Amino acid sequence: MKTPSFHVVPLPTEIADAARRVARTGAADHIIITVDSPESSPCRHCLRWAEPGERVVLFPYTAIPSGQPYSETGPIFVHVDECQRYGSPNEYPADFRNGRVFRAYDSNYNIIDAQVVDGAEPEAVIESLFQNPDTAFVDARSVTRGCFTFRVQRA
Ligand SMILES: [Zn+2]
Repeated sequence: MKTPSFHVVPLPTEIADAARRVARTGAADHIIITVDSPESSPCRHCLRWAEPGERVVLFPYTAIPSGQPYSETGPIFVHVDECQRYGSPNEYPADFRNGRVFRAYDSNYNIIDAQVVDGAEPEAVIESLFQNPDTAFVDARSVTRGCFTFRVQRA
């Protein structure tokens, strides 16, 4: 199999751990939820769907830093209990082959392109966005709710 020209970047462990700590203090913007249906709550740290019965922290994450027109902070989940950070950067995460939109950003955090997977191979969509030399990174988001799922960088 050919090596992809991109790296999948899961949420850093420091951010997941900080969210878990804040949630335990009872902060209003970091709530703990017990998942009740499958494929409803993607953990951005292990890049898997949380299983029904597992607990997750729901909190706001700044995927695109403030101070730019495309600044964006939005809700994401991580498992409450420690989980292993996604460790296969060369492989597209199997749980998220459907239902994603890919947004291409330039190095100034401007959105310059976007494509919905819609039955295509996500790897091919990402590769095509990176064909544009101005694409600095690609963010995968939920096509329905818009929530940030993970980042993809050039290898
Ligand atoms: Zn997890």
